[in-house]
Amino acid sequence: MAGPRKFAKFRDVMHEVDRKGAAIYRNPVGTEDLVVLSPYNVKYIHSYAEDSQFFLGLANGKLLGSECTSCHYRYATPRSHCMNCGHETRWFELPLEGRVHSWTTCYFGSEEFLKETPFNLAMVEFDGVDTLLLSRLTGVKEPDIYIGMKVKAEFRKKPRYLISDVHFAPVRQKGKGRPD
Ligand SMILES: [Zn+2]
Repeated sequence: MAGPRKFAKFRDVMHEVDRKGAAIYRNPVGTEDLVVLSPYNVKYIHSYAEDSQFFLGLANGKLLGSECTSCHYRYATPRSHCMNCGHETRWFELPLEGRVHSWTTCYFGSEEFLKETPFNLAMVEFDGVDTLLLSRLTGVKEPDIYIGMKVKAEFRKKPRYLISDVHFAPVRQKGKGRPD
């Protein structure tokens, strides 16, 4: 009996398991681990509570950040209270254009995103904002991404009220490529 096929890359293991139900992962630590498919489904009903306006904003093509009412520290993500001084925050609109602060390419993902691998994630920085926003970066391949690349927010037309309702894509500038 041949048994499950063996792979050294976990991504290959995932694809094999998805097709055949089992595979062997040649673990870098020297073991050979049996990986199997066990489907499960969970309905997770939950409230966004004080983060609600952020997700409603995405549905309306807006990025809402949180600004501290006391020290005016500006967060690119929803935050009801300031991490710096503890005071309450208020909403403000982020610019829809920013720059790539850093990025990574994901060759593995959770159930929902596995079929989309490889995909790019970027930490986006904005003028006048003190923290970064983690988001998908689309419309560009890994070798063409660079730190400082201008990117713009694009929104899902039919909102699902998930963080994936927004992603970023390069701002196309005619005749201007990557700076050397
Ligand atoms: Zn503060």
